[in-house]
Amino acid sequence: MEKNKFINPNPYYSKTDKQKLNVPDEEWKKILSPSLYAVAREAATESPFSGKYNDFDSLGMYFCAVCGNALFRSDSKFFSSCGWPSFFREEKGSVLYKRDLSHGRERTEVLCGRCQSHLGHVFHDGPPPTGVRFCMNSVSLDFEPSADLE
Ligand code: FE
Repeated sequence: MEKNKFINPNPYYSKTDKQKLNVPDEEWKKILSPSLYAVAREAATESPFSGKYNDFDSLGMYFCAVCGNALFRSDSKFFSSCGWPSFFREEKGSVLYKRDLSHGRERTEVLCGRCQSHLGHVFHDGPPPTGVRFCMNSVSLDFEPSADLE
């Protein structure tokens, strides 16, 4: 897990525990850094082209920055001009979807399936083979390099 994402120890973070979490925001506020809390728990969006994983193509795995849930493999990442890290496929069963009518338009919000933190949105303008684009906030992701993954 990365430094300065947490202002206090995070007892919920695990890359192996699959148990669903139901942690109230007051508790997350004591643990998460203000920038991670704003995105993960208040659905803020980081500025385009600002995130560390936008222009980034190392081999490995992306995990939920809040809880450690495995979300995306680097072989599902693609270069998109949108300014946020983009993926065409999620790890099966790793995320939840929610209809989002904010900002006067209809979008599909993507949440972590383990801790229900906000990750970003999914759009239907992605590349083959899925045609979808998971448009994610870098701050919501933790990357772990792995030579085994393409
Ligand atoms: Fe999570």
